[in-house]
Amino acid sequence: MAEQSAGLSPILKQATPVLAARGEGVHIYDEDDRRYLDFTAGIGVTSTGHCHPKVVEAAQRQVGTLIHGQYTTVMHRPLLQLTERLGSVLPEGLDRLFYVNSGSEAVEAALRLARQATGRQNAIVLQGSFHGRTMGAASLTTSGVKIRAGIGPLMPGVVVSPFPYAYRLGMSEEEATHHALTELDYQLATVSSPKDTAAIFVEPVLGEGGYVPAPPAFLRGLRERADKHGILVVADEVQTGFGRTGRFWGLDHSGIRPDIVITAKGLASGFPLSAIAASQELMERAWPGSQGGTYGGNAVACAAALATLDVIQEEGLVENAAQMGERLQKGLRQVADSHPVIGDVRGLGVMIGNEFTAPDGSPDTETATRAHRAAAERGLLLLTCGPHGNIVRMIPPLVVGAEHVDTAVELWAEAVAEADS
Ligand code: PMP
Repeated sequence: MAEQSAGLSPILKQATPVLAARGEGVHIYDEDDRRYLDFTAGIGVTSTGHCHPKVVEAAQRQVGTLIHGQYTTVMHRPLLQLTERLGSVLPEGLDRLFYVNSGSEAVEAALRLARQATGRQNAIVLQGSFHGRTMGAASLTTSGVKIRAGIGPLMPGVVVSPFPYAYRLGMSEEEATHHALTELDYQLATVSSPKDTAAIFVEPVLGEGGYVPAPPAFLRGLRERADKHGILVVADEVQTGFGRTGRFWGLDHSGIRPDIVITAKGLASGFPLSAIAASQELMERAWPGSQGGTYGGNAVACAAALATLDVIQEEGLVENAAQMGERLQKGLRQVADSHPVIGDVRGLGVMIGNEFTAPDGSPDTETATRAHRAAAERGLLLLTCGPHGNIVRMIPPLVVGAEHVDTAVELWAEAVAEADS
């Protein structure tokens, strides 16, 4: 275990035993200069890799120019430029933006926006959803009780509808989609009247809840229902956005257009920044002055985000994520073929989950935990997810190369063999 400070609260849990001294590309180095292959990307954040020279340069330049341009007090150029640039990569028409600092804050802001714009109160979330830890976002989160337990009462007006998690439901993708859409209709008919329903929040790939891509047919069905009832679709692209799934936005795989997009994590390569985007028409229905914050749209974070966009485009990182994701998934499937304890390997782009299942069909958290630990001992940093922690997920930076993918698969094969013996 890495050195700990007695002053750190025992509330905090650390997924790997590493004390990171520096990062470079897909690697993290500890204080003894031991190198780790970082397939966590700081929970999907360091899209351009650790300390990409262009991001470093842009941030350093901005630090010496203007650090804190408070955007509700004075405007600054990095924020204006970023807004232009994001407008060109966002789904058409969703080119009105504002900024806060984290994914959770952006979710809160989207909820606020959706309620004001529709005059309705309820929000529908999908089972297994993760939208954050602040009270509103935690109320929308169903990925595991640890986020909700002991802090209630949570916000009323949240309705949970099934996610088409085919593997867990023991169904085909088509059956799971049909099931989830039928239940969504049922919720709208029995619990949350469309007239009371402001928004449906959706992660294009269920993230903390288990790394399950939402089938395109499900997303299209969801969009149809939202259109029929005047309900807004809020795409939580905090983890799936910025190329992670092999398309720029996770929802690009289904072709549906959301009403509100939330982005954070990969947006600024590690600087705290999140954005909420919608149409002019929708933003006009919200109440001026009701959103904002002291640090939102920080000038250094905006400069880093601009450099992040440059790097993603210049280095073809979205295409790289698609190709490397395919290579990684193929390798992981081969590992799973030799180890039936891995019941499912799934994902989009470089957002891949390995689900561990015991012979009786129950979640095998113990073997997953052992494999996760054995990988870290071999220098491969990973994370777990899912309500039972039995899914080991892989989210390398988008700059990952074939040699890194192949090394990760080799180390993973060894780790799983040790855990499964
Ligand atoms: N939404 C999604 C889909 C996320 O994955 C996360 C973080 N894991 C959040 C929201 C919350 O983001 P943050 O931790 O920056 O508040």
